[in-house]
Amino acid sequence: MGARVVSAFEGRVHPQIMPATGSSARDDGHTTGAGGTLPGPARGSEVDALSEIETSYRYEQISPKAYEHPADRAATSALHAVPLLDTVIKRLIDLGHEKRLRQVVRGNAVKVGPDQLPEIWRRYVQVSSVLDLPATPDLFVYNQADVNAMTLGANKPIVVVNSSLVSSYTIDEVQTVLAHEAGHVLSEHYYYTTALVLLGQFVNGSLPKSLLLGLPARAIYYALLEWARAAELSSDRAAALVRADPLDPCRVMMRMAGGALPGMDFEAFLKQCTEYQGEDDLFSRHARFWAELKLDHPFAVRRVKELVEWVQSGEYDRIRAGSYPRRGHEPAPSAEFQAAVDAYKAKFTRFFERTAGDVQRLGRQLSDWLKTRVPASGTEEE
Ligand SMILES: [Zn+2]
Repeated sequence: MGARVVSAFEGRVHPQIMPATGSSARDDGHTTGAGGTLPGPARGSEVDALSEIETSYRYEQISPKAYEHPADRAATSALHAVPLLDTVIKRLIDLGHEKRLRQVVRGNAVKVGPDQLPEIWRRYVQVSSVLDLPATPDLFVYNQADVNAMTLGANKPIVVVNSSLVSSYTIDEVQTVLAHEAGHVLSEHYYYTTALVLLGQFVNGSLPKSLLLGLPARAIYYALLEWARAAELSSDRAAALVRADPLDPCRVMMRMAGGALPGMDFEAFLKQCTEYQGEDDLFSRHARFWAELKLDHPFAVRRVKELVEWVQSGEYDRIRAGSYPRRGHEPAPSAEFQAAVDAYKAKFTRFFERTAGDVQRLGRQLSDWLKTRVPASGTEEE
């Protein structure tokens, strides 16, 4: 079954999107057909390398809606629909904690650029160009043992990759992760992600809980975690599009889930994923509910399964062939979309009912908190 899945991905050639301007620079030995190559290593000087990146293929003006997972879109709408929640999150960010978070990164991590880890930088600029990002966010490497990356910032995002990822994964794998992060950038996921990180710090006690006094902080945190899991599914698709190979994000997920052990069999992992029988409602079982709440990423197996199903739906091929919504020309949501939004609203309501009682009470709590937390103009609360 794994082999069947692999062959379903192979042999895609879309020269109008992906001119074969570069050599295949894969270092993991698998073939993807002409559509699966990205421009090869830089020839000549760094300046030449960057101009080569700029002139390589791109999904011009691609809208994030092109690769947005329906769960992401629905969860985002459901979050926006919680009365006052966006205002509370904006206030939380305005109080200065987001700025502090950025300063922690800027002051403690190494900024990547043409003169600092230039190959990582080159691959990163390439990703930014392929997705046609309006601007390339600053990129940092942070000394952390766990393999991870994230995109933060309320308005101007920054991308942070952990050192363990850079040191123990191949350059193609690192680029796959950078492509995933670029998907978060284009989808503007970073706003809620930042709120999630801040709330996590309060919930886990590394920031004073007094700030959130009166707020159903844990419920908001869980709702944002739920949203974040849906957002991951969109970014996995973006990574597949940028790398022009859906197997690349799948392989990285196997390595992250299994600890990047030598000798892991990718075919066997794909088989495991396609045979995985997830329930429609992953949270219907109490045990799994709490198990997943501790994770800000959904199960690797489920992510791979979602990606495989998306490719099999034909959507990936359509985008690769150049058929995708451009920015400012997004189609209206479908009828099924509203049903999905309602499902997420019901889920979020359950979170809030556990801690805030009913939704009216939640509204009162949020509004009372907002009244007591007026940011002083020009100053930050610390
Ligand atoms: Zn992500």
